[in-house]
Order: sequence, then structure tokens, then C-alpha cells
Amino acid sequence: MNRYDVDLFVIGGGSGGVRAARIAAEHGAKVAIAESNRWGGTCVVRGCVPKKLMVYASEISRTLDDARGQGWAIPPASFDWPTFLAEKDKEIARLSGIYVRNLQNAGAELAHGKARLVDAHTVEVDKVGTRTADKILIATGGRPWMPKDLPGCEFAISSNEAFHLPELPKRIVIAGGGYIAVEFAGIFNGLGVEVTLVHRGPNLLRGFDDDIRSHLAEELEKRGITVVLGAQHTAIEKTPGGLLSKFSDGHERESDVVMFCLGREPYVEGLGLEKVGVKLTEKGAVAVDDHSRSSVENIWAVGDVTDRINLTPVAIREGQAFAETEFLGKPTRFDHEMVASAVFSQPPIGSVGLSEADARHRYGKVDIYLARLKPMKYAFGGDERALLKLVVECASEKVVGCHVVGPDAPEMIQMAAIAMKLGVTKAQWDATCAVHPTLAEELVTMREKHVPMSLGQVA
Ligand SMILES: Cc1cc2nc3c(=O)[nH]c(=O)nc-3n(C[C@H](O)[C@H](O)[C@H](O)COP(=O)(O)OP(=O)(O)OC[C@H]3O[C@@H](n4cnc5c(N)ncnc54)[C@H](O)[C@@H]3O)c2cc1C
Repeated sequence: MNRYDVDLFVIGGGSGGVRAARIAAEHGAKVAIAESNRWGGTCVVRGCVPKKLMVYASEISRTLDDARGQGWAIPPASFDWPTFLAEKDKEIARLSGIYVRNLQNAGAELAHGKARLVDAHTVEVDKVGTRTADKILIATGGRPWMPKDLPGCEFAISSNEAFHLPELPKRIVIAGGGYIAVEFAGIFNGLGVEVTLVHRGPNLLRGFDDDIRSHLAEELEKRGITVVLGAQHTAIEKTPGGLLSKFSDGHERESDVVMFCLGREPYVEGLGLEKVGVKLTEKGAVAVDDHSRSSVENIWAVGDVTDRINLTPVAIREGQAFAETEFLGKPTRFDHEMVASAVFSQPPIGSVGLSEADARHRYGKVDIYLARLKPMKYAFGGDERALLKLVVECASEKVVGCHVVGPDAPEMIQMAAIAMKLGVTKAQWDATCAVHPTLAEELVTMREKHVPMSLGQVA
């Protein structure tokens, strides 16, 4: 007789938890999984998927403008927010249903409710009951961080609510400089909303390559987004006309909606981790080793709750690696190096490997190749520029960074990531024949080393 009710109990039915539960169950393990909200988690319900659907909808206005420049006669177009929301919700429900079916088909027990640890082998789920488990996986993700002490914070929304606004605002103030902030700035701008993006730092997208950061800020302004850097909210007040944002630089701005995109925090509240001895990092994430094992031997954690690289494919691969190691007898460790990422800003970004600054810090000498050009897509209108940049480590001649801002950059970067994961050198990269006419061909035709202004001046 089994000592425990199940072999594996997973807390969190998002990207990482579902993958681990499904793989373990498909390979004969007795699995239960708890989800307190909707199956599919952040990515499907209030993250990547609805966000990308909104990006697609918002890009239409630009496409219509371009079409007019190309000779199309298009009567003034209008956008109906409720129609979009209904279609978006239908698609999210369909995807969430697929997650449920996949888990059921694999034979996992689905427990709908908030779960907490009673002890290292017992999980209690609201309205479901308790289960004992040999192994437990924490995959509870993250949630938006809100500055609760800020006067008027209660008037602001987070990305969670942005997907369900009862009506499309005329004016929005978005606070934050990360990828979620710039993506929503583009979405609302494309949908005709007057957007002010306020960030306390000197530039947007901390952690990305500096050329990409300043290029994006310029392009956002060209598209009509007001970008305010070096300022942050000091208060939000309700006014007869809407909400008044007060900023640290003395400026004020009235809008209909204020949205905070100030970062996300690991969702560990109420899980009872301290009680069973699961250690947290300084930032409150579950501390894990290379195999995602926590400080308690039979408890693991994957995905955003561990705050390693907070992206869906990473959570999935961590969940897969855990299941393969523990239930398939195939020890697997997910390699967090060279993970490509996209920012679905408008224009979008694709990035893999090191920024120039990080590469200089790690390797000392690096060569830079950089192209800035007007994409052919916009030949008949607008003054948008694309930027493509390669960072090459001098000693090994390997391409250690590739960064693109421009149409289809997220699609491009997936392919570049394959070559870079394999350790491609600049000579091998250049030996690849171009695909013409594309923006991507610029990546394989950059021959002249770029001398950054500051270094050129020193030399
Ligand atoms: C607006 C936005 C846009 C994003 N865009 C992208 C993108 O374009 N590309 C990308 O790769 N990533 C994107 N992400 C990040 C991505 O969504 C996350 O990295 C990914 O969802 C993490 O998966 P996870 O399994 O760790 O957690 P989640 O998907 O968050 O799943 C955790 C689940 O656990 C549940 N839960 C929490 N506590 C409990 C409990 N006590 N009991 C039961 N259930 C519980 C939650 O309800 C949730 O469903 C975006 C995120 C946001 C917010």
C-alpha cells in the first residue's frame, strides 16, 4: 500500500505546474494539482496570450495608416472595445479548457481551490480537502507589485485589470519601465488612447542593451507616446475629470486610468512555506538549486515563484526538467544561458545573449556591429528606424549578444538563438547567405565594426 495519497502534488496550474503534472502523470505517477484561479495561469489568462491578442488588435491602426500611404482608400475606421474583449475572452476560455483536458487525459486529479502546506507531505486545498504527497512542487507564479503606501494607490490598476477594463479610456498614465509597461503603452497608443509612460529610471527596459533602450524610447515618442523619465508618482487624486497623477519632478497629469507596471513579486503568501522550513531568497522567491529543489528535500519549485528568468517557456522547461528527473529517471537540468526574449512593444524587440555592457564586463574586449535603417515595410510613410546589433567576444570570436528592434524582431531572434546556443562565431555567422529582401539580412551583412561614440572619443 502507498504511504501517501499521491506521488506528486503540484500547487499552481500555470505554465510550469501544468507541464510538470502532465509529464509525471503520463509516465505513471499518481498526481494531484491545485489551482485557485483559472487553469493555464498567468500566461494564458492575464499575461502573454491576452497581451499578444491586444498587440495584434492595436497594430491595425498603424497598418491602416500604412495602407493609405500605399494607395488604399480606407474610410475612417473605428474600434469597438467590448467586441474585442468578448472575442479575447472566448479564446482564453478555449485555451484554458485545453489545459484542463490535457491534465485530465493524463490522469491527474484537478483540485480547484487555494492550497497551502500543512506539513512537508500534506497539502490542504480550500473546499477540496487534504492530500498527502511523496513529492510537492510549488509553481504558484508571481503577481503584480503595487506601491500600497502611495496616497491614492487604490485608484490605480495593474496588468491584471487592464485585460478587463469596462471601457477603453481616452487617456492613460502607465508607470513603469519594464517590458509590461512598454507593451501596454504601445497597445493603448495603437487603440487611440493618449498615453503617458512615466519611469523613475534614466531609461526604459533596464537589463536590455543600452542602444536598444534609447532606440525604443525614441521610437515610442515618434508614435505619439509621451515618455517621462526620471520621475515617479507621489500621489494619485480623484478629480471631477478623472485621476490626477502627481510626480516627483513637480509635474501633474490627469487621465482616466492609472496603471502600475512596477514589477512582479513571487506569489508565496499563505502557502505555509516558513512552517515547513522552505527557505526564501532576499526577494521573497523560493530558493532552489540547479534541479529546482528547495531547502526541504521533498519540495521543489519552478517558474516565476523562483524568480530566475520569469518567462513562460522557462517555467515550462523547468517543470519538464523536474518531471524528467524525478519521474522518468532521466536527470535533467534546465540551462538558463542564452534564453532569448521578446518585447512586444511597437516597434518590437528581440534579444538574446549579453548586452554590450554585460559582455564588456564579463569578457573585457568585445567588437560591436550595428545597423540603423528604415525598414522597407515603412518605405511609403513614417520615419521609423530599425536597429540591429551584434556583440562579439574578441578572444573566441563568438557572437555573444544579438539585439533587434524593428518589424518581426521577436520572430527573428528565435532563429538567432539556435545558432548562438551552439556557439556560433562571427565568421560562421557571416558565411550564412542573406535572405533578400528582408530586415533580417542586415544581421548577416554587417562587416564594419561599430565604434561607440564614447570609445571613439577616448581613442
Ligand atoms: C502582462 C504579462 C505579460 C507577459 N508576457 C509574456 C510574454 O510575452 N512571454 C513570456 O514568455 N512571458 C510573459 N509573461 C510572463 C509569464 O506569464 C510567466 O513567466 C509565466 O506565466 C510563469 O509561469 P508559472 O507557472 O511560474 O506561473 P503562473 O503562470 O503565474 O501560474 C501560477 C498559478 O498558480 C496559481 N496559484 C497561486 N497560488 C496558489 C495557491 N496557493 N493555490 C493554488 N493555486 C495557486 C495562480 O492562480 C496561477 O494560476 C507575462 C506576464 C505578464 C503578467
